[in-house]
Amino acid sequence: KPHIRLQMQFSLFGDNDRLIVAKDVTRLYHLEQMRRDFVGNVSHEMRTPLTVISGYLETLVDHAQELPPKWRRAINTMAQQSSRMEALITDLILLSKIETGEQTLNDSVTDVNSMIRQICHDAEVLSGDKKHDFRVSVSERHWLKGDESQLRSAFSNLIFNAVKYTPAGGTITVDWKTDRDGAHLSVRDTGIGIDPVHIPRLTERFYRADPSRHQKTGGTGLGLAIVKHVLINHDGKLDIRSHIGQGSEFICHFPRERLTEKQPALTAR
Ligand code: ADP
Repeated sequence: KPHIRLQMQFSLFGDNDRLIVAKDVTRLYHLEQMRRDFVGNVSHEMRTPLTVISGYLETLVDHAQELPPKWRRAINTMAQQSSRMEALITDLILLSKIETGEQTLNDSVTDVNSMIRQICHDAEVLSGDKKHDFRVSVSERHWLKGDESQLRSAFSNLIFNAVKYTPAGGTITVDWKTDRDGAHLSVRDTGIGIDPVHIPRLTERFYRADPSRHQKTGGTGLGLAIVKHVLINHDGKLDIRSHIGQGSEFICHFPRERLTEKQPALTAR
């Protein structure tokens, strides 16, 4: 059965006049769907050969001490680049799954409190020699209705970005709280910051505030696109505030309807 997709726009004039514009976006929607499927399929097809290459490279790295320095360097570089490519493919597959909104989100409940503690613990390990000062505060009262693995990806991306873009000794503050409006996760850092001109485009795939930076930080360029789509799937909204040289704050807002009182029994399916 053919579906027609319409984009509706309502405008109000004066007290009583209304203008409704309906635009047929069916073709655009199908093109977008084809693009998503194509990227998803290509990524899947690339994963298997890449896994084989990485496997052999790991074995070579293990035996590289026996080789001349020039070869050793070449093998180490190949291993590094293939693990970058693996991370990229993992993120592309994840993004195409999240974009299609395939999973049913409403019947699962996530204990965001312990999830955030866990991610911050991992982030502290990742921070390593940079020895960031982590300040974590989580409100225990509510859980969130939503997909646990999607939420984990989104929150990990924000918290790991704070680690990546904050120099040694900086402070990373993670705050999960609930109030009358809903739930809010704020991830704040005292890092390098972002020029405000870039903020509106940061959640686009592969958009980087400073293209030369990612060489050093090694991200896939898809982290914030993943965050954006996870939030769309959970009726949420992302706020970004930043000052260059002073730090950034990323805030995820979820509406009140997404909250549920902490009830462990609810997690049983
Ligand atoms: P990447 O893999 O490049 O980190 P993301 O989608 O996660 O990709 O982020 C997009 C861009 O936003 C980054 O390249 C970086 O320029 C900027 N950015 C994201 N988080 C931060 C942060 N906490 N501080 C400064 N810049 C950030």
